[in-house]
Amino acid sequence: MKRTNTLIVEDAPALRTLADNCARLYNEVNYERRQAYIRYKRFEWYPKHLYEKYTPLVGSATAQQIINKNNEAWRSFLALKRLEGKGKLPPHITKVSLPRYWKRNGKRELRIVVRNDCYKVNGKHLYLPNGLKVRIKGSLKWYGKQGRLEIFYNDVDEAWMGFMTVEVEKPPIREGGKPLYIDLGVVNLAAVWFEVLKHPVAFSGRTVLADWWYWTRRIAKEQSRLARINKANASRRLRRLYRIRQRRFRHAVNAMIKTIVEDAAAFNISKIVVGNLKGIRDNNHNNKANTMINNFWSFNYIIQRIREKTEEHGIKVAEVSEHKTSSICPRCRSGKVIKRGRLFKCIDCGVEANRDSVGVLNIGLAWGTKLPAGAVNGAMARPLLLRWDGMKWKPKRAVNNQPMKTLEARISRLQPWKMSKADLFYVF
Ligand SMILES: [Zn+2]
Repeated sequence: MKRTNTLIVEDAPALRTLADNCARLYNEVNYERRQAYIRYKRFEWYPKHLYEKYTPLVGSATAQQIINKNNEAWRSFLALKRLEGKGKLPPHITKVSLPRYWKRNGKRELRIVVRNDCYKVNGKHLYLPNGLKVRIKGSLKWYGKQGRLEIFYNDVDEAWMGFMTVEVEKPPIREGGKPLYIDLGVVNLAAVWFEVLKHPVAFSGRTVLADWWYWTRRIAKEQSRLARINKANASRRLRRLYRIRQRRFRHAVNAMIKTIVEDAAAFNISKIVVGNLKGIRDNNHNNKANTMINNFWSFNYIIQRIREKTEEHGIKVAEVSEHKTSSICPRCRSGKVIKRGRLFKCIDCGVEANRDSVGVLNIGLAWGTKLPAGAVNGAMARPLLLRWDGMKWKPKRAVNNQPMKTLEARISRLQPWKMSKADLFYVF
């Protein structure tokens, strides 16, 4: 499996020169291809004259890497064009644009691409081609066969970042364990349950949501300030605000996923079943809710992180349709139910439950797990609610007297989830 080590690289004049030359090469290749494509719909995949022009400046291996990087951009562009021709573009893509330049606000983006065999990380130093040696911060999280290294200057953080891909050996797949179910949502980021748990565990989205809106308001303020003062729509401050908002959201999500998956591994869970959100999107005709679900909660991001984290523990992931999981009774399967606020009541059998529990229990039922007799009441119907305090997920109420102690006790004793440098920058 592929993983990324993140490094903070010390600034050096030689690094800037190299990065600027890389960006010039990239942009020149891209310019020629754009011109050729617009005129003749075809271009040269190997721009020999540019390769020869830049080899003395950046080295032959790096020149090749930069050209490859541009090839990749063009390959995905052409693939999208073909899809567009067939009318089969993915719904989130509305326009296919030509590969862009490495340029931002009229300035070249400083980027370097280094081939896997042309660099070395040794302790606190990074050794690059042409005898360039720079200091690095951060330790390697992943070890394995080293892949390509990309270094770029992040002008929001004003720092050089290095992203080093590593091919890591996969742990053996777990077999024979029970499945764990996850119901993703907005009011609660996730509700989690597996057969042994007396009641589901829900990760409240409330504080995360409030935080998101706080930063969204600050973004809106900055946007109107920019429009008023200098009729611009971008500033470094604005990009910083976007980044802060995203990082804070991702910090909470990553802490949640870490808790869920590490606990699942401790309980020898072999598969995680996630309700997929197609149903939620289709059922919601409210535009604001849709915007929130699609952009704000970044479900794709959550699912992707669950997949990466579970892969590290040999746990498989399955997605099931969430269709109807929130609107049928988990006890008698009746569809005659009343939903009010967070409450759920079945008219046929009279069961009352918390809606957050209903969703995840129904996913479990749909997957074939049997609920113990008389399970859908009392404890089972009320989830253990965890709140995000900006540092860690904490139970809202005491869990000392619960019969099923281990997971809950673990959760209540959880150490603050410290953000390591790698984690911090991994979530860019
Ligand atoms: Zn019922």
